[in-house]
This record gives sequence, C-alpha cells and structure tokens, in this order.
Amino acid sequence: MDPILQTDIKYVKSVGPLRAKLLGEELNIFTLRDLLYHFPYKYIDRSVIHSISNLVEGMPYVLLKGQVVAKNVEGSGRRERLTALFTDGTGMVELVWFNSLRMWDKRLLYNHTYLLLGKPAWFNGRLNIAHPELEDADAASDQPLTMQPHYHTSERMKKQGVTSHTLAELVQRAFEMVQGHPLSDPLPEYLRTRYNLQPFMQALHTLHHPGQATDLPDATRRFKFEELFFLQLDILRYSQSRRQNTQGFPFLRVGNHFLDFYHHSMPFELTGAQKRVIREIRADLATGRQMNRLLQGDVGSGKTMVALLCCLLATDNNFQACIMAPTEILAEQHYASLTGYLNDHPVRVALLTGAVKGKQRKAVMQGVADGSVNILVGTHALIEPTVSFLNLGFVVIDEQHRFGVKQRAMLWQKNVRPPHILVMTATPIPRTLAMTVYGDLDVSVIDELPPGRKPIQTLHYRQADRHKLVEGIRHQLREGRQAYVVYPLIKENEKQNLRDLETGYNQLVDTFPEFRVGMVHGKMKPAEKEAAMQQFKCGNTHLLVSTTVIEVGVNVPNASVMVIENAERFGLAQLHQLRGRVGRGADQSYCILMTENRLSDLTRRRMQVMVDTTDGFVIAEEDMKLRGPGDLEGTAQSGMPFDLKIAHLVKDRELMEVARQAAADVLLADPAENLPQHQTMWQHLQRLKKTRINFSAIS
Ligand code: ADP
Ligand code: MG
Repeated sequence: MDPILQTDIKYVKSVGPLRAKLLGEELNIFTLRDLLYHFPYKYIDRSVIHSISNLVEGMPYVLLKGQVVAKNVEGSGRRERLTALFTDGTGMVELVWFNSLRMWDKRLLYNHTYLLLGKPAWFNGRLNIAHPELEDADAASDQPLTMQPHYHTSERMKKQGVTSHTLAELVQRAFEMVQGHPLSDPLPEYLRTRYNLQPFMQALHTLHHPGQATDLPDATRRFKFEELFFLQLDILRYSQSRRQNTQGFPFLRVGNHFLDFYHHSMPFELTGAQKRVIREIRADLATGRQMNRLLQGDVGSGKTMVALLCCLLATDNNFQACIMAPTEILAEQHYASLTGYLNDHPVRVALLTGAVKGKQRKAVMQGVADGSVNILVGTHALIEPTVSFLNLGFVVIDEQHRFGVKQRAMLWQKNVRPPHILVMTATPIPRTLAMTVYGDLDVSVIDELPPGRKPIQTLHYRQADRHKLVEGIRHQLREGRQAYVVYPLIKENEKQNLRDLETGYNQLVDTFPEFRVGMVHGKMKPAEKEAAMQQFKCGNTHLLVSTTVIEVGVNVPNASVMVIENAERFGLAQLHQLRGRVGRGADQSYCILMTENRLSDLTRRRMQVMVDTTDGFVIAEEDMKLRGPGDLEGTAQSGMPFDLKIAHLVKDRELMEVARQAAADVLLADPAENLPQHQTMWQHLQRLKKTRINFSAIS
C-alpha cells in the first residue's frame, strides 16, 4: 500500500546516493515517508516582531528587532560567559552565551540592527535570552513574512551543506511527488472521528507549512496521538501475548515456613498496604502464569518484609528464591536484615557478592546448586551464568532502575520455566510512565508508611544562612544524633568532585572540633568504604561526608540530619531518596537543602516542592512537570519499542492515556488482527517495528 511513500529518498530531485546515505545515517531518513515524518522542531513566526516591553513569561521563541548597547565577558573557567544588553527602545533584555563566547564577542557589533530569535526567560526577575540567534535585519528583510519551519540537522550535515533550509526544500519536493496519489491514513477513520483527529495529509501539510501559529495545535495533536497510539498498541499487544503464553510455576501452598514466621516471628504488624500487596502477589503466584510485578513503595515503606514473605512462599513450594541489590553494601544490608528476621527458622540464607571469595564462595555456590540454600542474597553477580540454581522459582530485584530489561530477561533462563519476578523500587514513577516503560509489568503500590514515623522537616538554606546550618547541626550532635553531609557528583569531573568533598570535610573538621567526621566516596576501595560506613553505623563518627553513594537503602536510625550541598544540582527524585536516609528512628529529623544565594525561579520552585511535601509520588510528578523526566526518560527510552519524534513521554501523558485506551479497545475488537478497517493500521505497526530492527542492525 502507498508504494509512493516507500520511494527511496535518493530519487528525490537533488538528493542522489551520497546525500541519501547522509540522510539515512544522520536522521534515519530512508524513504519519502521518513522525510515527511521529519517534522520541524520549531517555527519562527516572521509575521510578528515583538516589543521587549510586551514579553511575558512562558512565551515560545520570539522575534525581536534592535541593537546591542553593551557587552561583557564575565566569570572564569567553567562559569565564564558573555553577556550583552539588547534594546529595541521599549525595554532591555540581557543576552547570555556560555559557549563560543569569543566568536560571539567578535561578531556582535554596536550601532547595528539585528533580528533576534530566542526564548525569553526570567532570572532573578530579570529578562534574559540564552544563546539567541541573530541575523542582520537588512539582509533578512526580503524573507517572506510567514511561519518558517526549522528542521533538525547534524553538524556533519551542515558541513556538507545540508541545512534546515535544504530539508525544507526536500520536504517541498516530497509533497510534489506524492501529490495525486491517494494516501491511506494509518489511523482508521472511526478512530479519527471518535478522538477528533485531523486526516493524515491535512495534518502533515499543516505541520510543514502552517499558515499561522494557531493552525499548529490540531495538526500536532493528530501526530502525537498517532505516535502514542502505535506505541501503546505495540506494548499492549506484546504484553498480552506474553501473558497468555508464558507458563510459570504455580505456587499453590502456603506452608509452615510462611505461617510459622508470620504468626510467631514478625517483629511488627504489617501495614494495610503491605498486606494488600502480599495478597496481590499470592493471587498472581497461584495462576500458573509467570508473575512480573513492579512494587513501588516510598523509602521506608517496608518493602523488605514483603520480599522476605514472598521468599518464604517460594520455600514452602520447594523453590529457591534470590534477592538482587544494586550494590554490595545494600546486598549485605539485606542479608543482615533477613538473617536477623529469620533468626532460628530452618531456612538457609546465603550471601554472594564480589567480596565473598575462596572456600566460602565455593560453599555458597555448592549450596545454591544442591538446593540447600533457600534464599540467596547478592548483587547482580547472581544472574551470571556461573551461578546455577537447583530450582529457582522467585526473584526479587531491588531498585529496578539499575537493572535493564535485558538483564531481567536473562533471569528467564535460570530454570526450565521463568521464575516469578518482583521488581521493587522506591523511585516513584508516575502511573502513565510506568504503564509505558514497564508495559509488561503489573504494578503494586505500598502507599502507606509504618505507623509512628515523624515526618521529616525540610528547610531550604542559602549560603548566607550557613551559620544557621552550623548551629542546627551542633544542636543535634549534642543531643547524641548523627548527621550526613552530601555533595553532588559533577559529571566528568572526578577531580573536582573529590576536591569539593575534601574541602567540605576539612571545613567540618574545623567547625566541629568536638565531634568526629568520616568520609565515603565512590573512589574508595570497597573495604575502606565499608569501614567508614561501619564507623558511622556504630556511632564512632558523628558526621558523615559523602557523595551520593549513600543514596539507596543505607539504614542508620540514629542519624537525624541530612544536609545536601548544592541541592540545586540534584533531581527532586534524588533529593527525596537522600532525604529518606533520615527519619528512620523515633526522633524528629531534618533535611537541609543548601543552595547558592542567587537562584533561578525554577530552582526556587523545585526547592519549595521539597519543603512542601514528603510524598514521593507528588515529588516525582512535580519534578517531571518542572524539569522533564531527566534520568527516567533515559531509562524509559531504552525500554521502549520505538523512539518518539513528536510526542513527549511526560508532557503528553494525558494524551498517552487516551491513546492507550484507544489501543486497548482496538485489540479487544480485533484480536485476530483481520478487520478490514484495521489493515492499514496493522501494516503501519509492522513497518514501525521493522524500521527499528533495521536500525539496531546497522548501529
Ligand atoms: P524500604 O521500603 O525503604 O526498603 P524497609 O523495608 O527497609 O523499607 O523498612 C524500613 C523500616 O521499617 C525497617 O526498619 C523495617 O523493619 C520497618 N518496618 C517495615 N514494615 C513495618 C511495619 N509494618 N511496622 C513497623 N515497622 C516496619
Ligand atoms: Mg529497601
């Protein structure tokens, strides 16, 4: 169908084999269809020149016309930047460059009229535009006054003379080539009517050649929907077939291991949420299908106990279980809590990490192979092929975001049928994102903390308030409490990291001569790290200076203060994880976010979110709204069947819900995938999937 759209790009006039190769390699454009789906990433509305005095927050790219009246290179090293003042007679805006300063410094002329394109932002109440595009106003005056599309290109393409402008011309030719050919819409008409979506060609034309800015939203929505719909269709289709076809081990018994422990050895009553989650898991385990479940629960919500009870169920059904943690420290901690809880129960728990060596390692491996080890705790070394279980039936993965989809799949090979998998995470992922990224996982949530916890009080201090911080820490330490001081990791600058950490350490030693200060960081040997942690755990050191190595899972109930230096450098989810290291005892705990004095509005808002709430889900949602999904998106993208070009995983999550529902309805109505009105749609899905495979084969 629509063979014209499958035309090789090299047949477009002026492309030829060389440029076709370039377009394929740089932008994955191979066919006319790919070219037409290469949408502009922005438009410049050349029909409106704005006045500086009329700019308001939240405006997209705007065009200004005026002159540069001052310029200045400020700061040094990493912080060096070029600033310039730009005026159009109605107001003043500060322009800022952080890169290529020298070039811009030379290029900027006084007494010269520029057309400026940029995105206005406010910083400490002052209007500024970072990295604007500037062109000579006179030279630009013969350009048509319309919405001008701008297309992504790469450095390599620019070097070979293929610019955004070239792409605009190619798109134009593509339109000419398809003209007169009836093109079928990948979205069936009834769906378009139901969800009020523009037809394919109309929307396509608008996206490349909008008459005015107000034409864009409808056309954009149509293609965002299309993209999200096919994404959801693929995910749902895959997870349905997997669910129907993957046989698991039925766990039919609740036996003595579980019951004895539950009735006689539980140190506390389970919370309602813990009980509900265990019921959900038990129901899964009884079905005969393999369980794949994500357990989300905020820091301190008691996921470990849930994991332990699941392992005991496995033991009762004559299966082995294992728990994987992302670091050795955490694996050791899990091992310690499990052996503590199980005390004199006849269940053998063993630890396997890189630190377990020689005879001891051999004994553990032997026990795993002959089945005498019931529960194996360790790092991801557990999934290596050399570790062979007699009969593995249940796997717990703690802190999932460090275990990829592929690693999970490796586990499936560990027994004749895949073991049940419980992935536990304290990183709260908003529901829509979880549904998409972990489309093949069912989700359980522990949305309740054990009783009696005092909410952590969070304060935001700036450098100018540092004396208050010192007093606060001293007060807590005198009460017998302990404190963490965490420094951010600066990417790609390990020396600087260590220097910041050491400076911080020395300052604390000077400030608190009456207390002992310890330090941990990622460059230390595991044994040194462990020793430093141990000193802090048993109270020999009172202050612990560290990088984010303590982020996950570390448990020192006597620590009541968490100081986070340069808090503005952390994502909110990470701040939340760090904050969760305190508030584990009965005392009031504090989290102090230290930042610079001068802050962007965005940073100020982000800190305020942390001060206002301790609910991890609220924080995750806010973080995504304010900053975009950051790390999560990286993880998310890698787990997705194909890349999104126009829709955004987080910003478009409402539309994603709609698209998911639509996809679910389609699957329900057409399980055999043979309804005539769906044929174009199924073919389109096949094509999307095929393209992806080709790409991965190339790269
Ligand atoms: P996380 O979900 O962060 O892994 P943990 O499992 O480490 O949380 O539990 C945090 C603390 O709460 C532990 O000290 C644990 O013993 C305790 N805890 C867990 N469940 C309960 C409960 N139902 N009642 C009281 N304390 C609990
Ligand atoms: Mg935990």
